[in-house]
Amino acid sequence: MDADLEHLLFIYALQNAVKHNSAPKSGAVIGTVLGKHPEFRSRVREIGPLAGKVVAKVAAMDGPERKSLLAEIAPELLDELTETREHSRELPALLGAENGVVMRFAPNPSGPLHLGHARASILNDYYVRRYGGRYVLRIEDTDPRRVDPEAYEMVLEDIEWMGLGITDIVYQSDRLDVYYDWCRKLIELGGAYVCVCEAERFRDLKLKKKACPCRDRPVEENLELWQRMLDGEFYEGDATVRVKTDLDHPDPAMRDYSAMRIVNTPIHPRVDATVFPLMNFSVAVDDHLLGITHVIRGKDHIANTGRQRYIFDYFGWKPPVYYHYGRMGISGVVLSTSSMREGIRSGVYTGWDDVHLGTLRAIAR
Ligand code: GLU
Repeated sequence: MDADLEHLLFIYALQNAVKHNSAPKSGAVIGTVLGKHPEFRSRVREIGPLAGKVVAKVAAMDGPERKSLLAEIAPELLDELTETREHSRELPALLGAENGVVMRFAPNPSGPLHLGHARASILNDYYVRRYGGRYVLRIEDTDPRRVDPEAYEMVLEDIEWMGLGITDIVYQSDRLDVYYDWCRKLIELGGAYVCVCEAERFRDLKLKKKACPCRDRPVEENLELWQRMLDGEFYEGDATVRVKTDLDHPDPAMRDYSAMRIVNTPIHPRVDATVFPLMNFSVAVDDHLLGITHVIRGKDHIANTGRQRYIFDYFGWKPPVYYHYGRMGISGVVLSTSSMREGIRSGVYTGWDDVHLGTLRAIAR
């Protein structure tokens, strides 16, 4: 048996015992040794019995004896226990942020805010404070099906409770004309077209990487159809504006995605309209027009970042710097607004501040 390995196990067993002021735990000692010396991983079977022997030896000593022996044969391991570690607590720097930033928090008013929103909004808030600049609250209410009229107020209350340093508030439903305008420009550039194919047929073609018959329609005709959409001549699902992307894109969801659609029901609580931008279009247009410099959002938006880039490219706009953080789940805590709503409706939860929910109002309560 390897004297080095036995020695390593012995000193880490001593460290473990000193740290916890008790007999060393064999599993923890083995874990530490293999973590620090991966070269022994292939011999994991031999280590068990050897660790057992070493641990028994250390267990037979008393506290002061362990400590003085560790100080003698491996003083650095004793130091590790007493060091007050000076970790850098600072989050990583943002690229190109030296002269200040413009960032945004962009919730949908579909319910009150929950821990997922807190994560996004507090990270963005931190960087605005760190670099200075503006922090835009953008209420993303362009999907009438996902707007809860009461959520407008709840979102503001939750933001105040978190103490975010919001400097500007923008409601996307106030900006429909802006999106209509940029949609027309995109059509004029040949970057978008009105598609009147049935959804099913479009999906089949898209999966085969084939263009639908609408794709090559002349710009003039597209503009006419677009005007007819705005004039209310089409019903929900009968016409949509698609961004021309790449029909060969490996991800079918990137191919000619929808930018504008018609929604006849439900009626939007804030505006009298039936044509609404889809998220990727309104987000890209707003990120540009509001001068957003940095976007921090979840990895679930990575594909959207790809979709939004097409719009930036068509218009020759410089995109913001994007960062995506990993997914978060907290076991036993509900974070989906639609499941919360359903649970409240059916009486499983008492309300938005039910303690089983991951809402900020449940935490506040
Ligand atoms: N409104 C979007 C959402 O809540 C966020 C858009 C974005 O961060 O780009 O998912």
